[in-house]
Amino acid sequence: MSGYDVIVIGGGHAGCEAAAASARAGARTLLLTHKRATLGEMSCNPAIGGVGKGHLVREIDAADGLMGRVADAAGIQFRILNRRKGPAVRGPRAQADRKLYRQAMRAALEATVNLEIREGSAEDLILSDGRVSGVVTAQGKALRAAAVVLTTGTFLKGLIHCGEVKIAAGRAVAGRSEFQGDGIEAPSIGLSDTLYGLGFVMGRLKTGTPPRLDGSTIDWASLEIQQGDDPPSPFSFLTRAITTPQIVCHITRTNEETHAVIRANLHRAPLYSGQIEGRGPRYCPSIEDKVVRFAHRSSHQIFLEPEGLGDDTIYPNGISTSLPQDVQIALLKTIPGLEKAKVRRPGYAIEYDFVDPRELLPSLETKRVPGLYLAGQINGTTGYEEAAAQGLMAGLNAARAAGGGDPVILDRASAYIGVLVDDLVTKGVSEPYRMFTSRAEYRLTLRADNADQRLTPAFDKAGLVGTERRAAFANKMERLNEARARMRALNLTPNEAQKQGIMVRLDGTRRTAVDLLALPDVDFSVLTSIWPELGGTAPDVAEQLEIDAQYAGYLDRQEADILAFRRDETLNLPGELDYSAVCGLSTEAAEKLTAIRPATLGQASRIDGVTPAALTLVLAHVKSARNAA
Ligand SMILES: Cc1cc2nc3c(=O)[nH]c(=O)nc-3n(C[C@H](O)[C@H](O)[C@H](O)COP(=O)(O)OP(=O)(O)OC[C@H]3O[C@@H](n4cnc5c(N)ncnc54)[C@H](O)[C@@H]3O)c2cc1C
Repeated sequence: MSGYDVIVIGGGHAGCEAAAASARAGARTLLLTHKRATLGEMSCNPAIGGVGKGHLVREIDAADGLMGRVADAAGIQFRILNRRKGPAVRGPRAQADRKLYRQAMRAALEATVNLEIREGSAEDLILSDGRVSGVVTAQGKALRAAAVVLTTGTFLKGLIHCGEVKIAAGRAVAGRSEFQGDGIEAPSIGLSDTLYGLGFVMGRLKTGTPPRLDGSTIDWASLEIQQGDDPPSPFSFLTRAITTPQIVCHITRTNEETHAVIRANLHRAPLYSGQIEGRGPRYCPSIEDKVVRFAHRSSHQIFLEPEGLGDDTIYPNGISTSLPQDVQIALLKTIPGLEKAKVRRPGYAIEYDFVDPRELLPSLETKRVPGLYLAGQINGTTGYEEAAAQGLMAGLNAARAAGGGDPVILDRASAYIGVLVDDLVTKGVSEPYRMFTSRAEYRLTLRADNADQRLTPAFDKAGLVGTERRAAFANKMERLNEARARMRALNLTPNEAQKQGIMVRLDGTRRTAVDLLALPDVDFSVLTSIWPELGGTAPDVAEQLEIDAQYAGYLDRQEADILAFRRDETLNLPGELDYSAVCGLSTEAAEKLTAIRPATLGQASRIDGVTPAALTLVLAHVKSARNAA
């Protein structure tokens, strides 16, 4: 075929990762996006990662994806969240310089082999024999490809709300105060009509952002300071050290007076006046939503986060709002430190179309139109990391499909990416979906620290991993395996154990260095005081050995659970299975199974309303059909 193997539409977080993954996998790839200058634009919070989200970034990095390295280049404050809790729920997070992030993302994309970037707008899809075979641009030009990935974010029939003001837009432009002219990016109308026309089940969701403040008008001296980690921990397994200058953030709070201003103006809030139809993220509520839903709370925390090193615009994290501009100004005046703060751009909410992700296969290809893949906000998710993770998989699978290969599907026991995709395609969404560690059943295994050990070999096999990472990973594993073997061989002598006062806490047979390290109050420094030869262990290896030892007992048990889980995951269900012909299956279960068409018995078991009894019937039906064949 002339043209491209894969065309990716949209250069947001999903699109950048999709295009890069497709190109790394060897496909001739085109990234078509509105503006080169907005590649990797952070529409909302200038931050990457967090609990659950940071896990996704590390997994993307394990695939040699871009987000982790770009965040390392642009990060101006790094913190490991939940540091005092167990390693499984620790989440790396970085605040990023918005401009540096865009620049680093653009540079990474422009350096990617097999990838062409073009400015333009996709208005329609081209279909041949029911398959997608390209896109039509706003100029009417046809661009051909074997697979197309749509990552249009909040742009599908986007509608901005700020009080009574409603404007059709994909998002507002950073740094502009007006919601008109150059201050907004145009929505994507044609593609939305195309998707409706093809019969996709679609809906409306909404999200919001806070006002941006002029940092020179904030009374910093009165506010609590929040420091980053020193030294900062990078996202990427390849980054040796963070070299970007680091900043501090500040914290302030709303109070009863703020809440009174909000309550008095609720009738002007699009969320409550009925002006907004779409559902917003319950876990990331606007300040008006918080005041209504948590009426008993007299205060809500606000993190004042600089948008960049050379930019004194402040992002007040915690007061996302679509209240009218005059109310936003009035409520800011009640907040300590912000009494005189000038608003550079008002907060706003945005409503947009999304496609019910149950329209997708686990490869992120649509069931309705072969060759068409969707990733990011278009699938009902929220967040840069969720978007990037889907982009990675959609780009990889589109490239593999274009080359005649099988899709790569990560299951729930392999990766947060697997949890994310499985949740979306099996359960759909009723509100914007974001990642939490609580969504993962096997979170002791799916840690941020071991994402490379879990995933780099599989992604390498799929063709995504470059030579630098392959070599770095091999080197790390060699050092780690050597250290693990050494630890197992180091036994405490009874004398030494007694001297350390730990004999009583280790049973008679277990007294290797690994057993010792598993004790809650023993860290690597205790080991080096007993065995000086361990003193030369590299810090990354020592940290990994501590985590291994801490989780050893639990992981053995989790391993057994994972084996049981995978038994059902490998029982494939035929795509064309006629559920209405399954003897004894209720109409409700048959309808749900027909709508979702689970790929495996395991996926079927996670569909709401599909009981274990129903699964037994389906399995018996499939087995008898196979025996008869
Ligand atoms: C106002 C606002 C508030 C938000 N608040 C939050 C929040 O509180 N928490 C949170 O986690 N996330 C929030 N987000 C969401 C976050 O920005 C998205 O989740 C993330 O950016 C989604 O990435 P994406 O790649 O799917 O889409 P986007 O980042 O939106 O990128 C879409 C890209 O596609 C391009 N594009 C669109 N249509 C076309 C077309 N037809 N042809 C060519 N190019 C096209 C656009 O130019 C853009 O580059 C918010 C977003 C907005 C706009």
